[in-house]
Amino acid sequence: MAQLDYYRPKTLEEALALLDEGREQAVPVAGATDVWVNLRAKKIVPRALVSLRAVAGLAGLRQDGASLSLGATTPHWVVEDSAWMAEHLPALHRACSAVGSRQVRNVGTVGGNLCNAAPSADSAVPLLLYDARCVLRSSLGAREVAVADFFLAPGKNALRPGELLTEIRVPLPAPRTFAGYWKHTRRKAMELPLLGVGALVTLAADGDTVVGARIALGVAGPVPLRIAKAEAVLEGRKLTVEAVREAAEIAAQEAQVRDSWRGKAWYRREMIRVLIPRVLTEAGALNG
Ligand SMILES: Cc1cc2nc3c(=O)[nH]c(=O)nc-3n(C[C@H](O)[C@H](O)[C@H](O)COP(=O)(O)OP(=O)(O)OC[C@H]3O[C@@H](n4cnc5c(N)ncnc54)[C@H](O)[C@@H]3O)c2cc1C
Repeated sequence: MAQLDYYRPKTLEEALALLDEGREQAVPVAGATDVWVNLRAKKIVPRALVSLRAVAGLAGLRQDGASLSLGATTPHWVVEDSAWMAEHLPALHRACSAVGSRQVRNVGTVGGNLCNAAPSADSAVPLLLYDARCVLRSSLGAREVAVADFFLAPGKNALRPGELLTEIRVPLPAPRTFAGYWKHTRRKAMELPLLGVGALVTLAADGDTVVGARIALGVAGPVPLRIAKAEAVLEGRKLTVEAVREAAEIAAQEAQVRDSWRGKAWYRREMIRVLIPRVLTEAGALNG
């Protein structure tokens, strides 16, 4: 077996230097819940693993003015156990609480979930809804990329060699914003979603005119995606069951769903029609 070195740096600078040194042969690892599976399946054959778990300042939730700063190595359980998250960013709270099992959520991180770039990544859909941004750092400096531009293809993200995701910035929603996420699985057990559905609306002071709408889907294309055409149907209109059904119909048509062993394309489309109204009803925006 080829040698595999393991590093556990304590600072970001050290971690970035190790990645530079190892070039593309060094792989960063946070909770290792995806990395380990890929190592075992020989989908990746790195020369070195650079653990981010001991790197100071990379984990935790911090309110930073009008946004939340979510450290990349924050495990899902931290979001799940936060009453503040449940109140202020309920769709993300719901998604992180639905990842795998409590054991997986104990070690699996939100940053790892994004960087793994699976079309089924649970946390991706709410982060799209909330218009979150990824902070990426390398030894050359920092840059920001919208979550909407972070996913390039299944398993491919916008990170350049030597770059780490250090933080996810989530703008806090405006008053009268309602948002939710529904992870649709074949059975009530530890499962990746066969479809992830997120919806968010912001209402005007009159309490029923939509001034902002976002619809995002997981497992409905090669990457988690927003459906702008469906959002446009809701904006400026009264939030009625009919308007939401219309938006859901457009989302179902626009989704790039396909057949897989978890579910057929026609079934995924049908569930998009069903789940968008359900998410907005559960979120308290719509009297279904
Ligand atoms: C049994 C089981 C059940 C699961 N169920 C679900 C589920 O229901 N929903 C779901 O969405 N996922 C699920 N997963 C997948 C996985 O747990 C999540 O994607 C998790 O959030 C990955 O986080 P991690 O910290 O373990 O990532 P790791 O495995 O450490 O890393 C994943 C990838 O991201 C890279 N990476 C990690 N952190 C960074 C960083 N800060 N900067 C740059 N690159 C980085 C790594 O190099 C690697 O390519 C499951 C996995 C298992 C094993």
